[in-house]
Amino acid sequence: MKWKGVFSAIAGVIIIVILSFVVWRFFVSSEDGIYKQTRFVMHTYCTIQAYGSKKEANRAISLALDRIEEIDRKFNFRNPGTPLYRLNNTGTPVTDGEILDVVNEALSVSKITDGAFDITVYPLLRLWGFSGASQSLPARSKILGALGKMGYKNLILKDNKLRKTRDYIRVDLGGIAKGYAIGEAVKVLKREGIEAALVDGGGDLYALGKLEGRPWKVGIRNPRGKGVIGVIEISDLSVVTSGDYERFFMKDGVRYHHIIDPKTGYPAKGLASVTVFTWNPVVADAWATALFVMGEKRGFALAEKTPDIETLMITTEGKVLISSGLKENLEIDRVEK
Ligand code: AMP
Ligand code: MG
Repeated sequence: MKWKGVFSAIAGVIIIVILSFVVWRFFVSSEDGIYKQTRFVMHTYCTIQAYGSKKEANRAISLALDRIEEIDRKFNFRNPGTPLYRLNNTGTPVTDGEILDVVNEALSVSKITDGAFDITVYPLLRLWGFSGASQSLPARSKILGALGKMGYKNLILKDNKLRKTRDYIRVDLGGIAKGYAIGEAVKVLKREGIEAALVDGGGDLYALGKLEGRPWKVGIRNPRGKGVIGVIEISDLSVVTSGDYERFFMKDGVRYHHIIDPKTGYPAKGLASVTVFTWNPVVADAWATALFVMGEKRGFALAEKTPDIETLMITTEGKVLISSGLKENLEIDRVEK
């Protein structure tokens, strides 16, 4: 009789524990919150944070990361069988709608920036070794040779087809594709009902909506040291940075990096990083690369006169330039040389 009482007491406790767990799962763990996933894609760690219920947020994040992977596969001109691989190697015109949209955007940025942004820069990147594992300073004659094998004016986008006028032209969307992928990830999140999210493609960002009424806080990286040089609060805006620290080698104390000036054939000089703030991430990505090439004077002046483009530039000397539309929103610390 005594033992029976003990057993039923234990059974009672177990039932209470199980019931509390069920109640906790239902009311607490399904509460809305920020959920996060990271995946290595587009040569970088992409992290998406989204606000919502655990199940819905995680589902939306997975789908958005899948979309980034899909774009990475399709836009990569090194993958045999992709539209850009075929255009580059056999001259087959590209008819894929989304590639044409991105190329169209790229060509318009080329025109506005007087060719500073040029998606046919690949022969130079190859010569410098930035498209492979080992980099070295090329002979001047070779640089001149490669300069003669590029130029966005050799691309013709007409009747929903992208063609090239010369066999040797190679298209590389490395300076713009990530922005496009970020924008597409945001579309997926919205379609899945997410209203607040931060899509971070290795420092290139889009902040969707607000987090419980507050804008997202994002840091601007210090190009020469650890951490950030400033913080900005943003909502429904993209922030994309191009920097000379992403891929580079040093020779005789000079830094040679992967953003090439199509006028000289050498890595663009003067700036260490350019961050662009604008609504559309694909525009932000192309402009960040383009302004980096244009440099402190011409680049900053162009950003100042272009509506909807704001910029923060850091020169190799550590000087910080902030466009007028940004000034009020930014807290800036000091930058090391
Ligand atoms: P980002 O990090 O967006 O500035 O892009 C850098 C990448 O863009 C490089 O790795 C190249 O693939 C490509 N690139 C380099 N120079 C240029 C240029 N002048 N115009 C367009 N794309 C470029
Ligand atoms: Mg870019």
